[in-house]
Amino acid sequence: MPEPLEPPGDEPLEADVDSEHERVRTALAEVADDLGARAAAAGGDAQQVLEAAALMAQDPAILDDVRMRLDGGVNAEKATWDAYAAFREMLTAMGGYMAERATDLDDVAQRVVARLRGVAAPGVPVSEEPFILAARDLAPADTATLDLTKTLALVTQDGGPTSHTAILARSKSLPAVVGVTGLLERVADGQIAIVDAKAGTVVLDPDDASVTAAHAERESRLAAASAPITEGALADGTKVPLLANVGSSKDAAGALELGAEGVGLFRTEFLFLGASSAPTVEEQTAAYTELLQAFSGKKVVARVLDAGADKPLSFLNDAHEENPALGLRGIRALRASEQILRDQLTALANAQAATDAELYVMAPMIADREETAYFVALGRELGLERVGAMAEVPSIAVLADQVLEVADFVSIGTNDLTQYTLAADRQLGSVAGFQDPWHPAVLRLVQLIGDAGASAGKPVGVCGEAAADPALAVVLVGLGVTSLSMSASALADVRAELLTVTLDEAKARAQQALGARSAAEARALAAG
Ligand code: PEP
Ligand code: MG
Repeated sequence: MPEPLEPPGDEPLEADVDSEHERVRTALAEVADDLGARAAAAGGDAQQVLEAAALMAQDPAILDDVRMRLDGGVNAEKATWDAYAAFREMLTAMGGYMAERATDLDDVAQRVVARLRGVAAPGVPVSEEPFILAARDLAPADTATLDLTKTLALVTQDGGPTSHTAILARSKSLPAVVGVTGLLERVADGQIAIVDAKAGTVVLDPDDASVTAAHAERESRLAAASAPITEGALADGTKVPLLANVGSSKDAAGALELGAEGVGLFRTEFLFLGASSAPTVEEQTAAYTELLQAFSGKKVVARVLDAGADKPLSFLNDAHEENPALGLRGIRALRASEQILRDQLTALANAQAATDAELYVMAPMIADREETAYFVALGRELGLERVGAMAEVPSIAVLADQVLEVADFVSIGTNDLTQYTLAADRQLGSVAGFQDPWHPAVLRLVQLIGDAGASAGKPVGVCGEAAADPALAVVLVGLGVTSLSMSASALADVRAELLTVTLDEAKARAQQALGARSAAEARALAAG
């Protein structure tokens, strides 16, 4: 388990302010260089995360804040530590995605203070034996550069499913369970454990039979990862296109390498999370064209800006809301600022015209036929051919037949659909147990949409995390889902599992799961 650095004491500053300020400036620059070099070596998702961390080390506001504290007689280590702590508090207060970046700041602060002390930055202990890494949380710089030949799995006490640790672990196909309450009090170095990332469980001191079963499961995962890349299909040849979820064109190469047949969810808001004003049509056209070019001849489903709750975009909704997940988010926020929506649809149409990718465009948080009709009409007016709706609000599932009268397709966002069906904030650890897409209530809503898609002869995809769970992917197909989109790292496991069942078998498993009395029972029944 990596040990964090001791926080600095509050001995008064004795050295000269200017020279201490200079010492901090040098330490910040060295840490930024180090993180930049790690970024370049890491590539992929890790590169972006580490480049962001390097920027946090170079932020001039930090150096100004340190100066103020030095002028007030605080020593250099403490001034640096406190300046980052103040920054952290600001991010935490913003909540959601921004709050989860707070851990990244802690790591940068620790690295800078270690430089000032002339000691090594805290990191992952070296081991000759393969091991499960247990930590309070892991710095992105450590997660990104983990030795994957030795690290079998990762378990952290802090962090949520959208923390960088979780995102990077997923992108490296490293089994990880994050946010395990009381972890550090319960584990000791050298203890045997089984980490089941699919079930989100950590079993300490398991019996021999469980260890043997876990080894077999690991072998089959590794075999799936090295199986040949084929198009997604069931054992009877039924095609199920396997697509990737991406945030920018930087994700394209990795997704294609892992066999993505296109993009099932392009989260366009990820490009503009830090922006304080709406991006221009030109900026957006350039970004979308770059992504579509990378998927030339392939399907790309772009989602228009999903502002609100876990994805703050101040230029779309800056109001303080008591329950932002139930507030002006998704299509509601866009409709309230229609020019921003028009600009985005125009940029998407420009990108479509400039490339030969097959562009589909959908809106998040659509509740009913009226909202669908509004969005589809606007999309068509601005030159888009294939316009659809995300199914994230339970009402859209109940009204799926009406929605598909006007939408060209529906893509189910199971993350939000689960949060709204079970009325449990997807960001809140205390109700995380409800965030389970295996819940029969969620499955029954998926069935309603699948049936409506089949009757209308229109595609129904899934682009939430549920699609990345191989056993659930089979059930979803059995419920009428026609394509699956996920983090690229999950493609191999899902591809391998689909090949083990026919469509009739998938439908039979789905029927079993629909009759379950709980999520756990649905899982067990679908497993046979
Ligand atoms: C979802 O809600 O399932 C989804 C895919 O969208 P996001 O996770 O970006 O809200
Ligand atoms: Mg969503």
